[in-house]
Amino acid sequence: MLDSAIFSIISVGKLQKIMRKNTLKKMNTSLGKVVEYVLEVNGETHPMNNLIGTQIKLEWNGEVICSCGRRDTKFYRSGFCYTCYWEVPQASQSIFKPELCTAHLDIEERDLAWEKEFQLAPHYVYLANSSGIKVGITRGSQGVIRWMDQGASQAILLAEVPNRRFSGDIEVSLKRFVADVTNWRKMLSGTPASIDLVQMKKELSVHVPDDLKQYILADDTVTEISYPVTEFPKKVKSTKLEKTAVIEGVLKGIKGQYLLLDGDRVFNVRAHEGFVVRFSHQPTLQQGVLF
Ligand SMILES: [Zn+2]
Repeated sequence: MLDSAIFSIISVGKLQKIMRKNTLKKMNTSLGKVVEYVLEVNGETHPMNNLIGTQIKLEWNGEVICSCGRRDTKFYRSGFCYTCYWEVPQASQSIFKPELCTAHLDIEERDLAWEKEFQLAPHYVYLANSSGIKVGITRGSQGVIRWMDQGASQAILLAEVPNRRFSGDIEVSLKRFVADVTNWRKMLSGTPASIDLVQMKKELSVHVPDDLKQYILADDTVTEISYPVTEFPKKVKSTKLEKTAVIEGVLKGIKGQYLLLDGDRVFNVRAHEGFVVRFSHQPTLQQGVLF
């Protein structure tokens, strides 16, 4: 039984993901002059851009909660408990490899009804520049959110297809020419050199399979994205709550879903979804102000 007082419903596209209020969730983003970040945890809303330059603190109580409600001291894999990883459609193979989607052929992987709802919906193939050019796919209107989460500086839509499988097929055909993953260390070390994405789209469109070329979008709008960063790390040092239960430091900026802290440290908020944490902040001593 789900207790609505304890659970909050997070929309992931059309998907509903159930998570407890006291667990970390990825930051909400909105596109302004720079990306505006909001962290919601423990029923509190923190506009994170305002905290840049101040001391922040994350304290983990040693517990994680899977979206199914099971508690443990660690996740089995990819933010799921053992049971969910092997049973729920949200963790099936085609989630990680869209080219394996089969709902459009009425073939079930784990739960055909769920897979149909998830897969048989408009998807986009895009090109983004986060650490150099990459190809990616996203559902419906999630594009800009996806790009902000990945720390992309520029992005363009390449194709709009009626189901996830077709977007996977296009992605596979373009992977021979461009990366499909972000080099996060490079993404966090600065702003990448600008790329002519309209030209790249033109060149790569030639390699889209002939039967899918009809889905290439004529719109060549390039979205430019800037992040609130005062100082990029010189040598990126990843921090994890599994290794250090209390992470604190001066917030130097935010890019993608990463908090950039002093001492060249970075903290991936999204990779810690489901961790039970306390978040707090205070002005730094340099500011000479105390609560
Ligand atoms: Zn679970």
